[in-house]
Amino acid sequence: MDRTISILGSTGSIGRQALDVVRAQGWRVCALTAWGNIELLEEQIREFRPALAVVVKEEAAETLRIRTADTSTKILSGPAALCEAAVLPEAETALNAVVGIAGLQPTLAAIEAGKTVALANKETLVAGGELVMAKAAEKKVPILPVDSEHSAIFQCLQGQPRRSLEKILLTASGGPFFGYTKEALRRVKPADALRHPNWSMGAKITVDSATMMNKGLEVIEACHLFGVGPDDVEIVVHRESIIHSGVAFSDGAVIAQLGAPDMRLPIQYALTYPDRLPCPGKGLSLTDIGKLTFYKPDLDTFACLAACLEAARAGGLRPAAANGANEEAVALFLREKISFLQIGELVAQAAARQKAVPAACLEAVLEADRAAREFVRQAAR
Ligand code: NAD
Ligand code: MG
Repeated sequence: MDRTISILGSTGSIGRQALDVVRAQGWRVCALTAWGNIELLEEQIREFRPALAVVVKEEAAETLRIRTADTSTKILSGPAALCEAAVLPEAETALNAVVGIAGLQPTLAAIEAGKTVALANKETLVAGGELVMAKAAEKKVPILPVDSEHSAIFQCLQGQPRRSLEKILLTASGGPFFGYTKEALRRVKPADALRHPNWSMGAKITVDSATMMNKGLEVIEACHLFGVGPDDVEIVVHRESIIHSGVAFSDGAVIAQLGAPDMRLPIQYALTYPDRLPCPGKGLSLTDIGKLTFYKPDLDTFACLAACLEAARAGGLRPAAANGANEEAVALFLREKISFLQIGELVAQAAARQKAVPAACLEAVLEADRAAREFVRQAAR
């Protein structure tokens, strides 16, 4: 199998694992992008020789241009250049592994250009899901999920009649603070929140896993990807992260996808779908694991999760506001400007302030995002 891929966010956790897959399969990469980590981006340019590399941070781009003058890779900078990386003619697939709403416009650009989108950037769907799914339907472009839960659901639905889908079982590790009370969460520091039990990921999603915002975002992501409502998604806390999610059908059958917790499998599946290829990483031994456990989520303690479910039910621009508020609040928490519990409070307040009017256009989504961020910054002063 031969593949040429654009990888947006190539220096991040998903981006680096995607390059592991590309290296193992011997595929080509035509574009790489990063926010500002030019050391790693330079290494990636030298190894994968893409036609284009984008550094979003303008100042860093000039340095990289000088350092890679001996290569044939063109270096562009600024957020708009991300869209150019998403639409290169030689790419069949654009893998979006950027973090945050910064991924929304490149996703729309890739769809507009008729690229298959392998989507890790869940914030794209949470904030602009209506726009993205409508554009994908119009252009007949597949959106293939990279997020492990959504990849699992997608795998479970293969060959099944959609009308028989009863509900989605969305599994959650529960994060580092599973079982904590609100009182215990009061004392939590960034270093505690950055210690995830099962997955090694970027800082933002690691904090999202600690607040369980990540699962709230994933409920909304699932609604868009699979055309269901939030009440058709049951969250199941499953500490071992072996069952990556499942689906229940009208006859009572439940189909789930299991695997070792290794993102390279869902990344690769999004790039080989509907084929499967040997994947770097180790397989799964159920007898080594011994037992699997399941719990209900604690919506009283994890306010972000409750806020996302409310925003999902209200719909319209509310999820965009919840997402924008969270991005801002997580950044403030990591700089120790607000407490862990304030993240949930601010997300809930910012979402509730947003009118649940339809997400009619990109500008409306970006405005809801901007207003929610501004609200959080003001409240944190
Ligand atoms: P990360 O922070 O490790 O990497 C993010 C990448 O995006 C980096 O290349 C960074 O340079 C780039 N970036 C950051 N800010 C940017 C901006 N404003 N504009 C353009 N580029 C920017 O994050 P990650 O853990 O790889 O996660 C990426 C996305 O995948 C997120 O949406 C996350 O929710 C999702 N995801 C991650 C995992 C995981 O295991 N890491 C699992 C499921 C879903
Ligand atoms: Mg996930």
